[in-house]
Amino acid sequence: MLKKLFQSFRSPLRRAPHPRSTPEVLGSHQHSLRRAEISRNAVIVVERLQKAGYQAYTVGGCVRDLLLNLRPKDFDVATNATPEQVRAEFRNARVIGRRFKLAHVQFGREIIEVATFRAHHPQGEEEEDSNQASRNESGRILRDNVYGTLEDDAQRRDFTINALYYDPSSERILDYAHGVHDIRNRLIRLIGTPEQRYQEDPVRMLRAVRFAAKLDFEIEKHSAAPIRRLAPMLREIPSARLFDEILKLFLGGKAEQTFELLLEYDLFAPLFPASAAALERDPEYTGRLFRQALANTDARIHQGKPVTPAFLFAALLWPALPARAALLQERGMPPIPAMQEAAHGLILEQCQRTAVPKRFTIPIREIWDMQERLPRRHGKRADLLLENPRFRAGYDFLLLRESAGEQTDGLGDWWTDYQDASDSQRRTMIRELSSKDEQGSGQRRRRGGSRRRRGPRSDNTPGSTNE
Ligand code: ATP
Ligand code: MG
Repeated sequence: MLKKLFQSFRSPLRRAPHPRSTPEVLGSHQHSLRRAEISRNAVIVVERLQKAGYQAYTVGGCVRDLLLNLRPKDFDVATNATPEQVRAEFRNARVIGRRFKLAHVQFGREIIEVATFRAHHPQGEEEEDSNQASRNESGRILRDNVYGTLEDDAQRRDFTINALYYDPSSERILDYAHGVHDIRNRLIRLIGTPEQRYQEDPVRMLRAVRFAAKLDFEIEKHSAAPIRRLAPMLREIPSARLFDEILKLFLGGKAEQTFELLLEYDLFAPLFPASAAALERDPEYTGRLFRQALANTDARIHQGKPVTPAFLFAALLWPALPARAALLQERGMPPIPAMQEAAHGLILEQCQRTAVPKRFTIPIREIWDMQERLPRRHGKRADLLLENPRFRAGYDFLLLRESAGEQTDGLGDWWTDYQDASDSQRRTMIRELSSKDEQGSGQRRRRGGSRRRRGPRSDNTPGSTNE
């Protein structure tokens, strides 16, 4: 397929290419990208800026994805106009960001992000009192507003495949970092010295994994080598940014593959410490639960169904609950408060790492609470649960637990039947529940073949097997 994309582009470089200051220029007949594939609004922005005398290109993911015949998520523009100059050109533009200032031009629901060319940072004393640039002791860039030339801009981008500039007016692609070569060879390669580039911004490690999964590319070996060692640097990243990155990692339709790569590169533990510990304690059950949750998420995304981060976080944190509740019980707390407290503490701890907004933490708790309530079906309880707006998520979560091997004595099937049943069938189903079933619901949670308990119920001995 790629052969076709780069019909007359012949430069099969074998060795790791060095960035260059003059770009490889690919004319319209040398690549497969067509102007009509670019968002109309992005073309409007580029042409308006060019008319005003600025340089402007579409850049990044949109060029990369179109060359790979994928549909871009969004269209980014790079220009030598400052954010304020961009704002002056468009009535529908505003300047956003502090760490990385840029202009957003709004067209109905589409936002075109316009970034001013950036240069690498001045190192050492020079930057001390600079308002535009700052780094911490480990080299992490805290503010990135040093403007530069197009050449500078290409060098400070993360990966070679993200440093391709397309000018819709001339239909030419400018390639400063051998990005086309790496697209052909399906390689994720950092521009510059990998270790330094990860130190500047550790989130690039997550981006490497995300693009590898999304595009089904390899991470080039020099770019892969430092990741495991530098993975702990993710702990320094502001928790709100990490939450955003996690959504991109897991809601892009390739969550399962992304998860495997996060594990391979030791990037999962710094994002989800308690979940990683649970995975180590019981890789089989926890691994099954995580992978099933992520596979379900991918399937829903491919079917165009909505997915909620709450469900995903509920699943990723669930196996960490029992051990936490057990600790509290050992300290004398009764089972139900211990469960509640464990849930509260676990979410709080996770939020310090990845700031999960309240609109998601509340439904996480509701999904978990629902697991306590689903076994209790007597009298009017089943019907009341069915009316609960969180029923569907709670029921799906129950099925997920079952698919990971938690024994619930057919509770999932029961609820599946109950939803389809007529009124009179429902009455019969409730009558058939013996009070023994009701009391014994907690004891049904053993895993098949194993005596060990998995469900973090309050009447359970959570995590007792591995603590
Ligand atoms: P997608 O939008 O599909 O997630 P993308 O490559 O467009 O992928 P964005 O996050 O939209 O990713 O960023 C746009 C471009 O900005 C990237 O292609 C890259 O050139 C540059 N970029 C983004 N984040 C970084 C970073 N942390 N370090 C260096 N360059 C970056
Ligand atoms: Mg993008």
